[in-house]
Amino acid sequence: MFLSELTRRDLLKTFAFGAATFSASSLKTQSTLADFVSQKDKTVGELHDGSNANPVKLLAEGQIVRPQLSLPKISETDVLVVGGGPAGCCAAIAAARLGLKTTLVERYGHFGGLATGGLVVHILGHWTREGDKKVQVTQGLGEEMMKRLEGLPNGIVNREFGRNPTLDAETYKYLLVEMITEANVEVFLHSWAIDAIVDDAPDSTTGNPVVRGAVIQTKLGPQAILAKQTIDTTGDGDVFVPAGATHTQRLYNIGLPYRIGNLDRAKPQEGQKPPRHLGDVTPVPGVRWVNMTGPSLDGVDVKTLSKLELSHRKQIWKQIQEVRNTPGYEEVFLMETAPQIGVRITRVIEGEETLTLENAKAGKKYDDCVGIGGAWHGDHLGWQIPYRSLVPRNVENIITAGRSLSAEPLMSDVVRVIPNCWVSGHAAGVAAALAAKDGVIARNVSIPDVQKALLDQKAYLG
Ligand SMILES: Cc1cc2nc3c(=O)[nH]c(=O)nc-3n(C[C@H](O)[C@H](O)[C@H](O)COP(=O)(O)OP(=O)(O)OC[C@H]3O[C@@H](n4cnc5c(N)ncnc54)[C@H](O)[C@@H]3O)c2cc1C
Repeated sequence: MFLSELTRRDLLKTFAFGAATFSASSLKTQSTLADFVSQKDKTVGELHDGSNANPVKLLAEGQIVRPQLSLPKISETDVLVVGGGPAGCCAAIAAARLGLKTTLVERYGHFGGLATGGLVVHILGHWTREGDKKVQVTQGLGEEMMKRLEGLPNGIVNREFGRNPTLDAETYKYLLVEMITEANVEVFLHSWAIDAIVDDAPDSTTGNPVVRGAVIQTKLGPQAILAKQTIDTTGDGDVFVPAGATHTQRLYNIGLPYRIGNLDRAKPQEGQKPPRHLGDVTPVPGVRWVNMTGPSLDGVDVKTLSKLELSHRKQIWKQIQEVRNTPGYEEVFLMETAPQIGVRITRVIEGEETLTLENAKAGKKYDDCVGIGGAWHGDHLGWQIPYRSLVPRNVENIITAGRSLSAEPLMSDVVRVIPNCWVSGHAAGVAAALAAKDGVIARNVSIPDVQKALLDQKAYLG
């Protein structure tokens, strides 16, 4: 630091006081410096001597232990939403629009979860059939997002009613920034939730532990966010699991979608069979997205995920070469592989109510219905999402939405499609906001108030 300051002072002195002393050699020194260092980068910064480090200890007997640590509080909020995917973004926007201080934590640098970082861009099942009529069941925030994407260049295609649209991942990332900032949500990106904060005292009425926020891992170390209500929309239960919520852990197909470009330059011969792996249309001309099923494995096991990243990337490369080796398709290229691996289902809460395919098919009605779900295609009845499927049985003040809400395996496959995540996320945000506002545990929030607020926000409840 001293050296840089002295150098700067010396140079200033040279320029200010001494036209006479301004020699060819000092000019040479200055220009040499300018070549090698940027003027902005001259301060060394604060010195840390390492005395406050508190690393994990490897004990003599081989145990690895984390010493006790007092955490800095980075924020205190009404509603904390952890995970900025389709469910989490809807939850955060809905809560903030009700006037509550809302905080959204996301491990990556953008929002949208699998719908953007996972390159899963096909919006399945936002409408269903009632008798002869087709009904759009995804309304509220989901419909608002689709409508706003229509107004942005290359935002969405196939929006005609009764079709399943496809959105553009980059446009959706942008739109979410717009909607999250408009709603005045406090945002922590590059923050990985690693723990739940649980009150020292259990709830006096249920005896269950009470969640009071979450711990995020940042480049500055672990930091605490305190919250009246927490919503875990990480998809993997990264907060409700350490909070002690009862859940099941499932294996499911893990793939890696990707996008290819230059399809508009393909020149197949008349009658030529196109190569495999050309994927489906996107809103960007010449660009298609290619889905991948992948093997059914544990999506929270890092060894599994690492192996899959390696093998999926080899497989994609091979597929692309196959396309490029097909006459007429030589200019097709691999634009992008999904930065977020395609984990479909991992941990699912055991809720107060569990959705089953049988009940969904029978059109079971719930008093606490907070949304209507669709499925892969719309030719079936809509099914109700009861609020109790968002609420874990044995922990207070944490609820979930999206792919980890309480459902038997066959039903989870339906729950997890993007429009259903929009709908359950919207409901979770409204419920958590009203619980925080009324000072009640999330389990006891007034259902009529939640339903009214959802309808006010244009949600569809059947
Ligand atoms: C390969 C594949 C193909 C699919 N195809 C379709 C399809 O064609 N149509 C369709 O509608 N659906 C499809 N789906 C399903 C759909 O994409 C997902 O189920 C849906 O995006 C889930 O939304 P979510 O908000 O619950 O979770 P996610 O989209 O997974 O979002 C979770 C968010 O939380 C963040 N996060 C996770 N852990 C942490 C943490 N510890 N701290 C902070 N942030 C965290 C993530 O980065 C992410 O942003 C597909 C899924 C996959 C994997």
